[in-house]
This record gives sequence, C-alpha cells and structure tokens, in this order.
Amino acid sequence: MLNTKTISELKVGYASGDFTPLEVVTSLESAISTRDGEIGSFLSRNLDAAVAQAEAADLSLPLGGVPIAIKDNINVLGEPCTCASKFLSGSYQSPYNATVINKLIAAGAIPFGRANLDEFAMGSATENSALQVTRNPHDLDRVPGGSSGGSAACVAADLAIASLGSDTGGSIRQPASHCGVVGFKPSYGRVSRYGLVAFASSLDQIGPLTKSVTDAALLTNVLSGHDKMDSTSLDAAVPDYTEGLEAGVKGKKIGVPKEYLSGDLHPDVKANVEKAIKALESEGAEIVEVSLPHTKYCVPTYYILAPAEASSNLSRFDGVRYGTRSSEVTDVLSMYENSREEGFGPEVKRRILLGTYVLSSGYYDAYYLKAQKVRTLIMRDFQEVFEQVDALIAPVAPDPARKISAGSEDPLKEYLADIFTIGANLAGIPAISVPCGTANVDGSDLPVGLQILGPHLGEQTVLQVARAWEILRD
Ligand code: GLN
Repeated sequence: MLNTKTISELKVGYASGDFTPLEVVTSLESAISTRDGEIGSFLSRNLDAAVAQAEAADLSLPLGGVPIAIKDNINVLGEPCTCASKFLSGSYQSPYNATVINKLIAAGAIPFGRANLDEFAMGSATENSALQVTRNPHDLDRVPGGSSGGSAACVAADLAIASLGSDTGGSIRQPASHCGVVGFKPSYGRVSRYGLVAFASSLDQIGPLTKSVTDAALLTNVLSGHDKMDSTSLDAAVPDYTEGLEAGVKGKKIGVPKEYLSGDLHPDVKANVEKAIKALESEGAEIVEVSLPHTKYCVPTYYILAPAEASSNLSRFDGVRYGTRSSEVTDVLSMYENSREEGFGPEVKRRILLGTYVLSSGYYDAYYLKAQKVRTLIMRDFQEVFEQVDALIAPVAPDPARKISAGSEDPLKEYLADIFTIGANLAGIPAISVPCGTANVDGSDLPVGLQILGPHLGEQTVLQVARAWEILRD
C-alpha cells in the first residue's frame, strides 16, 4: 500500500531501500484505476512520463522520487491544462512549465495526475467543473469542496501522496477541510504565480494539499521563493519550514476572532474548534478573544474584487489565441461572442458579468473603488490583531461538505459560506486547514478542518501551531 504513504515516509523508505519511486508510481496508478472511477479526482494523467521520471529519480534531492498531483490550472509542459473548462479542454497543451513545476522537478518530484477543479477555480464544490463530477471520498453523495476539489479528494483517497492547489478565496483550505487533509495557503507573493492560469491576480496563491503538516512544510520549502517571472513574488529569504516545526505552542499567544465563532455554524464544527482551542490552551498557549470588526464586509468585498479581476484576466479567452474557436463565425465580433458563449460555463459567465459591471464607468467608484478601500480596512484589522497575537484560530467553513446537487445550488448561499477563508486572501496572509474531528450530518461523519492564520510571512508560526494541534489530536 505504498499509495497511502506521506512524503516523509517515502523519504525514509527510499533512503533505506525498502521501495523505489517506480513502485510508488505503480501503486498510485493501480489505486487510481481501481477507485478514481467513482471519485473522479483526475482529469488526465501521463503514466509514461511519470514512469520515466521515477526510473531516473535522484533520491538525494529534497523531493527525489515523490509523485505530486497538480491542479489542472497550473501549466505543465506538454500536458493539457483545461482549467476544467470546455474552452481549453481538448484544444490546449501547455507550452511551458509553471515556476512551481520547475521547482518541483528541480527538487526531484514527479508531477503525476491533473486534478479536477471548478471551472477557472470559480466555486466551492467542484460542481462548476465543465468536465466531470468529483465526489468526496468520505461520502460519495457529497461534494469534495472546491475549487481544488480534485486536489483534495485524490490525497484523501490515497490516489496521490500530495498535490498542489490554488487558493483565491479558500480553494485550498475549504476542500482540505471537507476531505480531511491538510491544505496550506502561503502569504501572497511567497510562491510564484507564473504559470498558474490567473483568476484574481491580487488574491491567487498556489499551495500544497498533504496528509500531514510536516509534508506541507516540506512542499512549502520547495515552492517558495522569488521569481523574476512574477513581479508580485517576494524577494524575501525562505526559511527551512521543517526546522522548529515541533516547537509547540507554549508561550504563544493565539487569538480567537469573535466574529468567526458567532453566527451560523454547524454545532459540531463549533464544538470541534472549541475543543482544539482548549487543547492548545492546556499545552501552554495563551488564548485571547480578539475582534476583526470588518469581517462582515469580507464576502461583498471579495465578490466585487475577484470578479472584477477575473473579467479582465479572462478577456484573453476570445477564440483567437487560446483554446476552442466557435465554428459559428461570420466576422471578428461573432468569433469573440460565440467562442465565449460556447466556451464558458454559467458561473464563469456570471463572474464576468459581475466584474464587467463593477468596473464599468458610472459604477467603478461605487463598487470597485469602494471595495478596494474596504479591503484596506480588512487588511488593517489583521495587522492590528497581529500586534497582539502570534496566530489566529478559526473554523474553515461554517458547514461540512454538502450533497451533490447537480448544479442547482443558490450561488449567493455558496458565496456566503466563504466568510472564514476570504479574509486571509484579502489580507495576503498565510492560513492552513488541518483536520479537526468530524461533524455528523444525516448519519454521515464528515471531516471538519481547523484554520490557523498568521501574520504576513508568518508561515513558520502557522505551521508550528498546526503541527502542535496535529500532535494533540493524534
Ligand atoms: N469559493 C471562492 C470562489 O468561488 C474561492 C475560489 C478560489 O479560492 N479559487 O471564488
């Protein structure tokens, strides 16, 4: 059962010669063939390439011979990159590697398997994928969360050792929470976005989904760092995140934002988070209640700014350069219109309409500009709170995974459930989701995640608190 192993366990097994990268790839492939028919986490995979890389793996490298699944909005040279959209499916092949892929390869890792997502990463259930349904491995009638639903489901079902996702408003943390795995969104700029298909460029960030906090630290070590191809990537030293990982929480001040534990939370989600807070306190953390007073504006602010940026980013999909061109073309305008009409799904169109509206003359000041100002207030909330505490602790999502609905969900209800994850993106700070018990819904025990947030570039603290909770939980 090599497919069930963590990155750390692979490293030990490779070093002692107990098994080889080829055996791990073979084990993953056999698990995928057996189980992914019902889960649907992968859109494609290139077994021949993975086998060749496994055979040539350099085990002296930090991730030598470790297969990693990749969300299908990150470019891998020569592979499809569909963004789960009809626009790109069957018609686009990546002509280059994203920086994170170059970094993985340089560290010896083997990109293997392209994971399903909400179309262009817009959504919270992976139901906006235009290509296939992904099911939650813990209950096949339920969604895996989203938008990195495939990346979370494949790790949870042991069809991948670990994966990469992207997080614009919670898309790594929320599916990690719903599937019972670790999901880490680093600070904005910590990881290069070059080669990630842009959704909302001021919010997007790539990060790992793993089976343990240690694995998240190992991957963050490799992914982080300045990249001249991404002008927003930070030129700041990258510490070794595995060092001091088990420093514990003794003497650390951890804030509980009161706005995050009030309101409409599933009682088991609330109880689990409260249990974790108590446990950390008994380990010597000082727990204080804090306030992030602008929390109620997070959802409206995000759902103005993210669609605004998306409407601009997605204007490149017009039938000229990328992907599918409509066959119903009489002139240049009908080529744009029909290609976009046929290529995009309903949620992507809704975001483009919203975004175009809030940026249009006459509405720009009232919506886009105002939302930018409110974003500054939300950032300040976090800055002020991190003058008092080392980290924050909170739920990830108000409820565990919901039933698969065949796309009939109310979008507004879905948007409102992003309330606890969006703040970290608006403020650009690191945040992780770590498994934290289960919630019982209609007789199913569904995973619940605990969120830990830290100050800008406070990855180390976030990972330390997460690791402390993981040890206590186990
Ligand atoms: N659920 C949010 C949205 O639909 C977040 C998506 C994401 O982080 N990519 O926009």
